[in-house]
Amino acid sequence: MKYVEKVLEDLKKRNPNEPEFHQAATEILTTLSPIVEKHPEYEAAGLLERFVEPERIIMFRVPWVDDSGKVNINKGYRVQFNSAIGPYKGGLRFHPSVNLSIIKFLGLEQILKNSLTGLPIGGGKGGSDFDPKGKSDREVMAFCQSFMTELYRHIGADTDVPAGDIGVGAREIGFLFGQYKRICAEHVGVLTGRGLAYGGSLVRKEATGYGLVYIVEEALKARGESLNNKKVIISGSGNVAIYACEKAQSLGAKVVAMYDSDGYVYDANGINLAVIKEIKEIRRGRIKEYTQKVKSAIYTEGCKGIWTIPCDIALPCATQNEIDADSASALVKNGVKYVAEGANMPSTLEAIEVFQNNKVVFLPAKAANAGGVATSALEMAQSSGRMFWSFEEVDEKLKNIMINIYHNIDDAAKEYGYEGNYVMGANIAGFLKVAAAMMAHGVV
Ligand code: NDP
Repeated sequence: MKYVEKVLEDLKKRNPNEPEFHQAATEILTTLSPIVEKHPEYEAAGLLERFVEPERIIMFRVPWVDDSGKVNINKGYRVQFNSAIGPYKGGLRFHPSVNLSIIKFLGLEQILKNSLTGLPIGGGKGGSDFDPKGKSDREVMAFCQSFMTELYRHIGADTDVPAGDIGVGAREIGFLFGQYKRICAEHVGVLTGRGLAYGGSLVRKEATGYGLVYIVEEALKARGESLNNKKVIISGSGNVAIYACEKAQSLGAKVVAMYDSDGYVYDANGINLAVIKEIKEIRRGRIKEYTQKVKSAIYTEGCKGIWTIPCDIALPCATQNEIDADSASALVKNGVKYVAEGANMPSTLEAIEVFQNNKVVFLPAKAANAGGVATSALEMAQSSGRMFWSFEEVDEKLKNIMINIYHNIDDAAKEYGYEGNYVMGANIAGFLKVAAAMMAHGVV
């Protein structure tokens, strides 16, 4: 049996009941065969076995008291996956679906994503099955304080620097940072995505969505096209989705649909983003309220139908496995030409196959949504240098990083004989740097 297959089989045996982790590992490892064939020393060094085994997993109890006086217990996680090229870096997700499998899949992806940014950051991820939705600010604060009261001893500006993800935005980062500062009595860059008043970076809020559109723009440019007048569908209406919409619209695209976990809105005239921001960012409301303000829009209960709307470009920006083979086929049938993943692993393995078999330009998450973590690394640089860069400076750096990522993955795919296959390109380009660092460190 080949080395890659053996590692994958062992991984599934040794980590049962972790379907998302298996899925991410399968996607990554099956593309690394050309590399391990070229580098037999990797097998001798047990490199892949070490690559898929987190350096450290921290799991803890998070007790907190709700507004009715009831004691609640949630699970807390931090997976410190790989520190070969820098301190662990990756977000915290607060969502009822969170479990170890999901945090491990996100952590594994994060290693290669962070490597692709070209910046010195290792891979980690964390979170909780806590659901901030419908909770009062005081309840969210109580939870965040309890979560940080355990997490603080495992993180640090040079060891592990968490950030936001689903359910963790500016409010949660503020409460988490406040508690860290209170316990450790130090004001350091231990979290990114911080508010501008206390060490945050301009453009961090917009970075993942803007970066996603910058890489799509570069892929279009390479084919003599532009975003102008392109019809775009964006799933989700959270941080990534909103700023992907903002940038796409500013470059002339028409975004016609968005969703939240209840259903989607279709607006043939183009989504009015100010209305979405007012509902989602200011009121934490539901997307169906959009039709109260924009009478011509249509709301449909349930998410899946969004992928049946004809479009040139699809930007899944909500969650894992939101596009299955059926949805991918519907997109292809209706003429989609580009799919770029703002969310992590939004396409199933079967959906990716549909896109690739139909010559859709498919930009996988670890390349396409790397703008968020890249800008987090820029926030870290500003924190440690006690500097504050202007919006234009950070935006320019972000754009250059995304353009470089596109060319790196394009070149790697070509070099290994898989032109246009950006899943191969991203995994290979990301892995080579991590592998070089791990080999240099010896068996650790
Ligand atoms: P938010 O919490 O801001 O928004 C998440 C959006 O996705 C909401 O509209 C939410 O709807 C929707 N959603 C979540 N779960 C589901 C579900 N099971 N079915 C349908 N819709 C769902 O998160 P972000 O925008 O920060 O993150 C979105 C994705 O982008 C995630 O995959 C995340 O890992 C990835 N990502 C985020 C980065 C960042 O910088 N924030 C960086 C890189 C990747 P509802 O409100 O109804 O729950």
